Amino acid sequence: MMSQVSTPSSWSSAERNAAVVEANIRCHADGCERQATRWSNLCGLCEKQWLEDHKPVFGKPTPEQLKAAQAVIREHYGQQIANGVFDDWSSQIGRAFSRPLSKLVSPVGMRRYRTPKERFTPLLAMRTRDRGVLTRKGVINLLSYSLVIDAMITPIIPQPVRRDYMLALLGQRFLGREVYSKTTLRYTSRREKTGVIRYGPDGPQELTRRVEEEVPAKEYYRIRRADMRYIGRQLWKAMEKTLLAGGRQGNEWKQLQDRLIVQSRST
Ligand SMILES: [Zn+2]
Repeated sequence: MMSQVSTPSSWSSAERNAAVVEANIRCHADGCERQATRWSNLCGLCEKQWLEDHKPVFGKPTPEQLKAAQAVIREHYGQQIANGVFDDWSSQIGRAFSRPLSKLVSPVGMRRYRTPKERFTPLLAMRTRDRGVLTRKGVINLLSYSLVIDAMITPIIPQPVRRDYMLALLGQRFLGREVYSKTTLRYTSRREKTGVIRYGPDGPQELTRRVEEEVPAKEYYRIRRADMRYIGRQLWKAMEKTLLAGGRQGNEWKQLQDRLIVQSRST
């Protein structure tokens, strides 16, 4: 395993960065060969891609891993899936994370909301509009996604970002998009030449007329990483409460991780 630098939380970010530079280790991002210079044990570029573009720099689940995780989850909850209890849990989670379309605001309107907590409701309404309400399949998929990250990816992530990585990716997966955009039609008017020449006291003049027209305009709201993290954290809390005794640190989650790791090794 690669060496890591974990720095005391009382240090300033400059002090932490300096400690990482001094340690002379490689950037921990997938496939990056540069030297790590940041508190996250990433190089500057990779850290920027993580913080600003939500790029999963430490890796994300592959389709094969997701399939294996789904099998583990389905087996683990086999009884509850068969007797319908899992459906009840799923609809509980689904209801808690769905908002009616009337709560949707325009991308430009999103700027009025200052914090992830304030943006929570409109973002959930957007999600409801795009993908409907979570059902059993959706819950299993999200749980499998989290399981792969915690079993396969978080163990190789250095401490400052380890805890957040799964939550941010979970929120991102749940929302399913990074930009909220909307095309609206705006009316504008402009003057257009008519080709008709009038001869007046000042000589010949071409007549113009006013034309009203519809112009499509695109509005954007870039979903913040803080929003993904906030939504991921809330969603995970609900899944922990409903599905996992002991939560993320608990025994049940650990068992699921172990089973996935064993299964991935054998295939
Ligand atoms: Zn890098």
